[in-house]
Amino acid sequence: NEISLEYDPIVAIATATGQGGIGVVRISLGRAGAAAAGLMQAIAGRQLTPRQASYVPFHDVESGDVLDRGIALHFPAPHSYTGETVLEFQGHGGPVVMQLLLRSCLAAGRELGLRLADPGEFTRRAFLNDKLDLAQAEAVADLIEASTEAAARSASRSLAGAFSARIEALVDELIDLRMLVEATLDFPEEEIDFLEAADARGRLARVIAALHEVRGEARQGALLRDGLTVVLAGQPNVGKSSLLNALAGAELAIVTPIAGTTRDRVEQTIQIDGIPLHIVDTAGLRETNDEVEKIGIARSWQAIEKADVVLHLLDRAADSPVSGMLSAPVDAQRMPPAAAPGSAAGSAADREIAARLPDATPVLRVVNKIDLTGSLPARRPLDPARDGAIEEISLSARTGDGIALLRAALLDATGSRGDTQGVFIARERHLQALAAAATHLDLAAEHAALRAGALDLFAEELRLAQQRLGEITGAFTSDDLLGVIFSRFCIGK
Ligand code: GDP
Ligand code: ZN
Repeated sequence: NEISLEYDPIVAIATATGQGGIGVVRISLGRAGAAAAGLMQAIAGRQLTPRQASYVPFHDVESGDVLDRGIALHFPAPHSYTGETVLEFQGHGGPVVMQLLLRSCLAAGRELGLRLADPGEFTRRAFLNDKLDLAQAEAVADLIEASTEAAARSASRSLAGAFSARIEALVDELIDLRMLVEATLDFPEEEIDFLEAADARGRLARVIAALHEVRGEARQGALLRDGLTVVLAGQPNVGKSSLLNALAGAELAIVTPIAGTTRDRVEQTIQIDGIPLHIVDTAGLRETNDEVEKIGIARSWQAIEKADVVLHLLDRAADSPVSGMLSAPVDAQRMPPAAAPGSAAGSAADREIAARLPDATPVLRVVNKIDLTGSLPARRPLDPARDGAIEEISLSARTGDGIALLRAALLDATGSRGDTQGVFIARERHLQALAAAATHLDLAAEHAALRAGALDLFAEELRLAQQRLGEITGAFTSDDLLGVIFSRFCIGK
C-alpha cells in the first residue's frame, strides 16, 4: 500500500465549535512526517507510543505554560485516517481552550509550513492517499449530515464500501468483456464467431441487468439522503397551514381564519419511514388586486413548479351550502354540492388550480375539514388524466383524522421501495453517472446485435460505460469535481 507523502502539513479543530466534554485538535503531517517527534516534544513534552493513548500536558509553545491536560495519540503513516502521520490532541472541549491549543500547534509547526486545513481536507487526503474511494469519502459527509436514522445507517454502509463494491463488480465485468472484444478486434473476419462462442451478448445482458439493480438501490439511497419536496397548494383558508402543523405535530405555520395570511414560505422537514419530506406551506392561490399578495402567489407557483409532490388542498365544507358559510372567502366561488366519485371535486377555482398544476408532478388531492361534514377519512385512487391527481385523501387537519392515510399516500408517492435495510446512500451525481453508464451499455447492445464491423463501436461503448462508473468511485474524476465535493465538508473532517 504505497502512500505518497507529497502534501503539506495541516491542522484543524476536528470537533464541533461550541462547548463540549472533549475537543480534538488533529494534525496530518503530509510530507513532513519526520517532524512528528519535534511536535510531540513541543506540545506534550515527550514522545508518544504509536497508537496508544497517553495522558499528557498540552503546552503553549510560546509561553511554555500548560494550557490543558488530555489524551494524545500518534498514528505513524500509513496507518491513519489520512494515510499520513497524524497527531491528535484531545483536550477539554471549550472554544477558547481549543483555539489556544490550535494556535500552539500552529506555532510549533511554523517552520514546517503547518497551516489550517480547508473544509474536508483530511478526507480529501484520505482519498488522494487511497484510504477511501470517492463514494466512501462522500459517505463520510453524508453520515455527518444524515437527517434520519435510516440515512445514517445507509451512509455508514456506503462508508464501509457497500456501494463501491457493487460498482467495482460491474467494472470488473466490463473489463473482462472489453478484453474479450479487444482481443477480437484484430481478427475482423472471425469476430462474429468468436463473440458467439464467448457469449459476449449474454454477458453484456447480465451486466445490464446488474446495473439496473444497482440503479434501483441507488435511487432509494438518494431518496434517503435528499428526501423529497412536498408543496401544499390551494385556495386561501382551505387549511394548508393547519395541515403542515398536523403533519409536523407542532405549531409552526401561522394559522388564522383570515384569508391570505400565509404570505411567506414556511418549510418543515418530517420523515415517513426514514424518508425525509420537506413540506412547504404556500400563500393561498386566488384572484387578487393586493400587490403584496400577488407576489406571494407568484412565489407559491414557483414552489409548485419545483415540487416533487403537490398536495392540492380543498375545503370539503366549502362544497356544501350550509357549512360553506364557515369559509367565507371561498364562499363566493362555491359550486353546487360536489363531486360524484371520480369527477373533479371542489369549486371552479379549485378546478382552475388543478388544471394549472404541472403535469409531470404527482398530485394528491386532499379534501380537508371532514369534521364539519361528518364524512369519514378515506383514500381513493383517481385517474390522473381526467382528475389531475393520482389519489384523493379526505381528512381533517384539525382533528387529525385521516392524517395516517395521507402519510401512507405520501410514502407511496415517493416511490420508496419500502425497506431501508441494506440500502447504501447515494447522491444525484451517482444517479447521473449510473444513468449514463446504462445508456452506453444499451448502445453497446445495439451494436452487438448488428452486422460485422460494429465491433469497435461495441468496444467503445463498453469503455465509456466503464469510465462513467469510474466517476462514482473516483477512478476517473476531475480536480474541479473533487473541489466541489470536498468544499462542502465541514472543517476538520
Ligand atoms: P390556509 O390559509 O390554507 O393555510 O388555512 P389555515 O390552516 O390558516 O386554516 C384556515 C381556517 O380553517 C382556520 O380557522 C383553521 O382553524 C380552519 N381549519 C383548518 N383545518 C381545519 C379542519 O380540518 N377542520 C376545521 N373545522 N377547521 C379547519
Ligand atoms: Zn396558511
